[in-house]
Amino acid sequence: MTKFSDLALAPPLLKALAEQGYDTPTPIQERSIPYLLQGRDLLGLAQTGTGKTASFALPILEHLIKNPRANTPKQPRVLVLAPTRELVAQISDSFKAYARHMKFTQAVVFGGVGQGRQVEAMRRGVDVLVAAPGRLLDLMGQGFIDLSGLEILVLDEADRMLDMGFVRDIRRIMTFVPEQRQTLLFSATMPRSIEDLAASLLNDPARVEVAPPSSTVDRIQQAVMFVNGAGDKRDALLNMVESPKVSRAVVFTLMKHEANKVAEFLNKNNVVAEAIHGNKSQGARERAMKGFRSGSVKVLVATDIAARGIDVDDVSHVFNYDLPNVPESYVHRIGRTARAGRDGWAVSFCDAEQRAWLRDIERTIGKTVPVVRDHPWHSAEAEASTMRPPVLGGGGRGRGGPRGGGAPRGGAPRGGAPGGGRGGPRRSGGGARSGGRSGAPAGRM
Ligand code: AMP
Repeated sequence: MTKFSDLALAPPLLKALAEQGYDTPTPIQERSIPYLLQGRDLLGLAQTGTGKTASFALPILEHLIKNPRANTPKQPRVLVLAPTRELVAQISDSFKAYARHMKFTQAVVFGGVGQGRQVEAMRRGVDVLVAAPGRLLDLMGQGFIDLSGLEILVLDEADRMLDMGFVRDIRRIMTFVPEQRQTLLFSATMPRSIEDLAASLLNDPARVEVAPPSSTVDRIQQAVMFVNGAGDKRDALLNMVESPKVSRAVVFTLMKHEANKVAEFLNKNNVVAEAIHGNKSQGARERAMKGFRSGSVKVLVATDIAARGIDVDDVSHVFNYDLPNVPESYVHRIGRTARAGRDGWAVSFCDAEQRAWLRDIERTIGKTVPVVRDHPWHSAEAEASTMRPPVLGGGGRGRGGPRGGGAPRGGAPRGGAPGGGRGGPRRSGGGARSGGRSGAPAGRM
């Protein structure tokens, strides 16, 4: 098995890796690092959790060690573009950790905070700039950042950047970078738009693809509960998250307003929850994340895009309040749990409308999700539904009508009901919309 010591990395990097407790590269690292050390462009198909950050950070730092140069004010040598502030911060932390035994300077640039410190760091000059596209363009426009000296460019989570509408910003940024450069593009999925972007930015790239870390996915116990509409979904969710087995949960909704409603409903029922989505201010998102990390917030209700930056290791449960209409998002979502060697639960609520999406998800993940029927909200109609899925606007990939395929037969998953429930929940009555305490499990009030 390849070790980091086999990868021709300089001693300061090997030392930092050893201190992190990493001696064996992950598959994406093992396969990307040799190409990158040769100066090749790279198209990396990999998602968070595969070790992709180190797969580009290590060869970049190696390049800086091999090619020392004094900093030039405003001109970073390396630019890493990432979609969210949270991801920018994580990437920056990784660089710091791996560069701790070498001379290294870096800056981060993202919106939602004052620009003073970011400008000051750029004035001094940095080796590596990690930036979100919007603020980067803003500071470039003000003359604080100059990309003409760029040697290496990385686009991380390129699919998310496109989903978030950054394509024009990225194209504009590209007009300021030198022709002669090394370019790396990482994406978890490979839609046509990413193929096009890669074709226009990369020069004869090596292509490295890794499956989602299967050990992680295998540790996730998945379950689906068929339910009948929003009221029952909320009651079933409340019943689950109240369980002491749920220590920290992320709940996914498709729509921002639904995220707000769900968080409000949980709070009314004494479960501390916060919603995070694109309409929340940076400050509100940060407060929510801080509370979630510290444990004062038990449930984070998020839309897919907002959830991108959630990097908390001990999420015990992911709940799909709404199933995603893009099967790959299901894999992204459930990967928020069972991190860092822990176990985790991923429980999905599926109504008649979203039934076809579940079939698509099962085709994508190559297995059926075990069905839990032994609960008061079980809807046989939803399970048997062959309804056409709703076509979503605004970025939702509409998909064809339902295709055959019987209901998955998985039986109850190991360990009984996911989250354990809280015993004796009562049905709140055929699809009643519960705005408050109606339908709350017995014995809770
Ligand atoms: P990433 O996919 O870059 O978000 O990395 C996922 C997690 O794996 C992070 O917590 C990294 O610190 C960790 N990690 C990265 N490389 C290795 C490695 N070679 N061995 C063990 N853990 C790693």
